[in-house]
Amino acid sequence: MQTFSIRPFEPPVDAAALRKEVRAFLSKHQPKADAASRANSWAVADADFTKALAKAGYVGMIWPRKYGGGARHPLERYIVLEELLAAGAPVGMHWIADRQGGPLLLRYGTEGQRAEFLPRMAAGELYTCIGMSEPGSGSDLASVRTRGRRTPEGWRISGQKVWTTNAHNAHYMIALVRTGEDSQRQEGLTQFLIDLKAPGVSVRPIIDLVGGHDFNEVFLDDVLVPDSLRVGDDGAGWKQVTAELSLERSGPERYLSSLSLLLEFIRISGPSPASAAAALIGQLTAELWTLRQMSRSTAAKLASGEDPALDAAIVKDLGNSFEQALPRLVQAASDVDLAADSDFARALAFLLQVSPSFSLRGGTREILRGIIARGLGLR
Ligand SMILES: Cc1cc2nc3c(=O)[nH]c(=O)nc-3n(C[C@H](O)[C@H](O)[C@H](O)COP(=O)(O)OP(=O)(O)OC[C@H]3O[C@@H](n4cnc5c(N)ncnc54)[C@H](O)[C@@H]3O)c2cc1C
Repeated sequence: MQTFSIRPFEPPVDAAALRKEVRAFLSKHQPKADAASRANSWAVADADFTKALAKAGYVGMIWPRKYGGGARHPLERYIVLEELLAAGAPVGMHWIADRQGGPLLLRYGTEGQRAEFLPRMAAGELYTCIGMSEPGSGSDLASVRTRGRRTPEGWRISGQKVWTTNAHNAHYMIALVRTGEDSQRQEGLTQFLIDLKAPGVSVRPIIDLVGGHDFNEVFLDDVLVPDSLRVGDDGAGWKQVTAELSLERSGPERYLSSLSLLLEFIRISGPSPASAAAALIGQLTAELWTLRQMSRSTAAKLASGEDPALDAAIVKDLGNSFEQALPRLVQAASDVDLAADSDFARALAFLLQVSPSFSLRGGTREILRGIIARGLGLR
């Protein structure tokens, strides 16, 4: 039984030239950061870097020109993302707008929404965050309880979102809201763009175990949202979010999170590493290379208009397992003092603490394995 067919990755441009172009951009614009910060690439928000990146045409790069995009091919974008993430560039500010917000509006938004939001997103000036999870509604997203009530002046929305990455910087939250009266599970859910400065919205920080502020809780107290900010049809939210999750699951961010540590490990191991270190570097490189082929194949399928949800779930599960195991394997192969003042020690200490979360964000390991089993016809 074939479960993962590899599709060739054939961008319509000279990939090496594009990589060179991105590296030249990075050497000019990437702020100096240690390996721990580089390991956190797509969570580090830096408005200046985002604006410079947008100016170079690397935000919204596949969107139509009439909306401020670059009309480039999705596989060109994939190459740019690989370069940005491998370098550990701080792409967190625009990440969600570029990966999900913009594509959502292109697919389901109104012409007015596209004209209003996409050019500002592509200019690196308007940021969005994802308001799916709630207390008691994470893996079981269909149990969302935030309510939207239609009134003559617009929608009145009340409820609470949690783990909302970058809500403290974002302008709008793309929220999944229950609008169907007495609706159950996947039915009666609708997506809205909620202005995070609107009356009734409060964003409260959640400080994580390493002292970082990526997450927030977002409280919605009878927030008035005009119907013009409803995305897609009333009740079509479930279909829309599940399509969005394929975009979220298979990109290079799903296996490159620990790359800066591997690079540091290779650097400190030197040109003649001890045999245990050499064996580990070989093992990790082989796994990384295989994951890369799988992720690029999934990107090629997405680029040709397919929805490779099963492939995406496999890439995310294997990719997260790889990037989660890497810090522990590297720790076992080195005798580093985690409190030492070195890039290697800082990156290792940081990743040992945050890597357990890699298999939670974007759908947990258990949920993904359920999707894979269903895709194989096993449940
Ligand atoms: C770094 C990070 C960033 C995030 N950013 C965002 C964001 O921006 N916006 C947003 O909306 N959410 C975000 N999340 C939340 C994330 O989507 C949820 O954490 C995730 O969906 C799991 O939900 P939960 O935390 O409620 O755990 P639960 O759903 O309660 O799961 C707890 C455990 O039980 C297991 N489990 C649950 N149901 C089943 C089942 N049916 N079968 C087997 N096992 C099961 C899970 O796999 C998990 O191990 C983020 C999370 C992280 C870690």
